[in-house]
Amino acid sequence: MFRTSLENSETRHDTLLRVFGFEAFKSGQDEVTRSISEGISALAIMPTGGGKSLCYQLPACRLPGITLVISPLIALMKDQVDSAYARGIAATCIHSGQTWQNQKLRLRGMQEGLYKIIYVAPERFKNKAFREVLDTLEVSLLAIDEAHCISQWGHDFRPDYRELRELRKSLGNPTTLALTATATPEVRKDILAQLGLDSTRIIISGFERPNLYFEIQNVRNDQDKYIYLRSFLEDRMDQSIIIYCTTRRQVNEIRVRVEHEGHLVGSYHAGLSNNERRQAQESFMAGDIPILVATNAFGMGIDKHDVRAVVHFNFPGSLESYYQEAGRAGRDGEKSHCLLFNSQSDRKTHEYFIDTSFPPPDVVQKVWAELRQLGVGTHPTGPAQITRHLEHACLPKKGISRHPSSNATSSPNTGAIPEASVYSVFRLLKLAKHLDYGWRDGFAWVALRDISRPRDLRVDWHYLNARRQCAHRQLSEMLRFMKRNTCRQLQLLQHFESTASFGLNCNFCDVCLDAPPLFETQHSRIRSPDKPSLLIRKLLSAVARTRGRHHAKTITAMVRGSKASSMRIHHLESLSTFSILDFLRPSQSMELLRLCERHRLTLRDTNNHISLTDEGVLVMRGDHDLPQALDDHLAKRICLI
Ligand code: ADP
Ligand code: MG
Repeated sequence: MFRTSLENSETRHDTLLRVFGFEAFKSGQDEVTRSISEGISALAIMPTGGGKSLCYQLPACRLPGITLVISPLIALMKDQVDSAYARGIAATCIHSGQTWQNQKLRLRGMQEGLYKIIYVAPERFKNKAFREVLDTLEVSLLAIDEAHCISQWGHDFRPDYRELRELRKSLGNPTTLALTATATPEVRKDILAQLGLDSTRIIISGFERPNLYFEIQNVRNDQDKYIYLRSFLEDRMDQSIIIYCTTRRQVNEIRVRVEHEGHLVGSYHAGLSNNERRQAQESFMAGDIPILVATNAFGMGIDKHDVRAVVHFNFPGSLESYYQEAGRAGRDGEKSHCLLFNSQSDRKTHEYFIDTSFPPPDVVQKVWAELRQLGVGTHPTGPAQITRHLEHACLPKKGISRHPSSNATSSPNTGAIPEASVYSVFRLLKLAKHLDYGWRDGFAWVALRDISRPRDLRVDWHYLNARRQCAHRQLSEMLRFMKRNTCRQLQLLQHFESTASFGLNCNFCDVCLDAPPLFETQHSRIRSPDKPSLLIRKLLSAVARTRGRHHAKTITAMVRGSKASSMRIHHLESLSTFSILDFLRPSQSMELLRLCERHRLTLRDTNNHISLTDEGVLVMRGDHDLPQALDDHLAKRICLI
């Protein structure tokens, strides 16, 4: 039933066409699959959407034994298994989310040689039953997806990935393929070292994304971002868009705002329940909800093809993260937009994150000095309580600021240590095996294993310091990228040491196209055949015709002569004001309507339906002139054609 056996002398190209139905390899796939077929391990660095899965799925169909794929997330495995299965490749996954009965069934299948590809999470190797079955099989290929998880330098470190070197050894060092979209030299070196790979081909390719339009807007504050975002979304009704924010709080805030503008929007962050996250992801993937506001918790391995825009409301801490996240736009090759906001306050937030994530020795020692007084054993306390203890200890000076702009790791005035730093210290002390900690039924606990003197702590200061420096360096690379007036695409390719097919200009990003910065765009000329007063009177008469029964969006769609079915349904097509301002862009008609409201010519009722004020009626009839301020404003904006 499965078409996995290798037919006589079938070439890799034949397999590509027969099993996958693709005519040609994507960039890098040919080199990677050739390397595997020659039995040479490889590290493949390809961007998100570059087609990494095929790099092990194709060899899996051609090799005699099984292909074992290590993947960090259960959700990813499921998608991969489904898509492999759909192609007729016998794949399965075994993970902790399945019942034991179900796992046993799959183990039996493994034993009987039913599968060519088996997906597991790295912690699966601790499972004895699994190991026993695995030891009886021939592993032809060990593929490690999202291999940057192995590196502490990467942005998504998973301690279980550290065990893979041992695993590889115990499997008899099979041909190994590590795959990632993160390509910094440190991460690359670390992946090879951690896996014990010495003679390995490194294949970096396909980082060029000619269909992505990169745009960076320098803004003063969040208000600027909202204004811009609003018109950005208005111009992209019903398109699939991801909006990334740094914090959960910001995700919630923006979701509410975007929803208020009348868009269908979901949110995704680690603070939501599994169920809520799954629902948000599924609705977004299915296209039921076009806009998703998320932290970077969303997206690894997501294969949604028609994401038309990725907006970074806050810029990320490194170019690796940026490219990975922005790269989720336009996987179908259609033109897509990557909009990034750069603001000073986000820079401060990042600096605060870095300083609290990698606290200096004196902070670690201070926290430990407080903790060790508890003595060896388990105690009902945790990072939050210890933070408060330390605060009390160094009061009475008032006003302990937790704002990012305050000194991050230890304020010289108060000596207070931010809670975020205390959390990091707990993590470090756990890693150094001085303590363990956790929460039970909502209550924190900490178990001290010893009460070493602060100066005898086993924390790896050198490593901690190197991590802090690395994070600062990544941040400055990000800042430089945003500041430099050089082709964005070229800068990204250079960063990933990938070559560009073009010279110095992609001729598509904001730098190459010399796109106007935010405030020029905001105040861009409205090209209109009508004078301001006539334009506004037409708009007001359109409002009057809708008799206070419609939203701003419907009215603006009507004046532009939209083809949306709602026009017909609400009989707006037959109104004399239908398409009366068809030369306006969606954001412009919306903006004009907003100006009318601001100048009290229109008002909104509790349903957000728009109607004219008394003054609006007088202006519409020509009995009154436009309010002076509005007239002045429009005189600057409107360019008569
Ligand atoms: P990655 O893991 O690198 O992010 P995937 O393996 O999920 O990317 O592949 C992204 C998309 O590209 C998938 O929809 C896949 O079917 C498609 N794809 C992979 N290889 C090819 C190819 N040679 N030709 C056309 N499409 C391909
Ligand atoms: Mg992938």
